[in-house]
Amino acid sequence: MILTDLLNIFFPIRCIYCNKNSKKIPFCQKCLLKIEHIDERCLIQGSNRAAFFYSGLVREAILKAKFEPNESVARALSQLWSFYFCQNENMLFFLENKPACVSFVPLHWRRRVTRGFDFAAIIAKTIAKTLEIPLVDYLKCTRLDAPLSNSQNKEERLAKVFGKYTLRKKTTVKPHILLVDDIVTTGATFNAAREPLITAGANVTCYALAYTPLND
Ligand SMILES: [Zn+2]
Repeated sequence: MILTDLLNIFFPIRCIYCNKNSKKIPFCQKCLLKIEHIDERCLIQGSNRAAFFYSGLVREAILKAKFEPNESVARALSQLWSFYFCQNENMLFFLENKPACVSFVPLHWRRRVTRGFDFAAIIAKTIAKTLEIPLVDYLKCTRLDAPLSNSQNKEERLAKVFGKYTLRKKTTVKPHILLVDDIVTTGATFNAAREPLITAGANVTCYALAYTPLND
């Protein structure tokens, strides 16, 4: 505790938007109020969940994290999500129904090399620490496809990501896995990533940092 206080004096945590000093997470109280949370246990489509709407400050930060690319902003967003977990009643859902581990929808290795980090892996690591459960890197992305664009409808997106993810190795999976990703739109990527885990016998809860509805 004393160490944390000392670190705060010498290396204060600053809000990633306005650069004001902040206490625990890199978002000040004023900017936190502007962030749009998703309530009702965060359900957005079927059993898929998301914590925030892909709008305003969250959208701005995600774009910065992914396309600048900026790993410290990616870490800041994962801390925001973890902070939200602890504040929100959706944490109760996980206490009632706690997954055995966290996994993530991985980038293709070539995209990870270009970007320097895997955003979903950063999120998964923070969430695993918050829920005090292990992080397991189950999945492999087998194709380097162009990113899914907003002009595609759900069927086109499902066809495009079909078979894109496989299990890294023949392994026994935990009975309940929390699968995380940065953004969910139609849920097509979650479907493709969930598939090999379900086939291996797991029950999978999909949860994204942000949700953006598809403009049909
Ligand atoms: Zn701020």
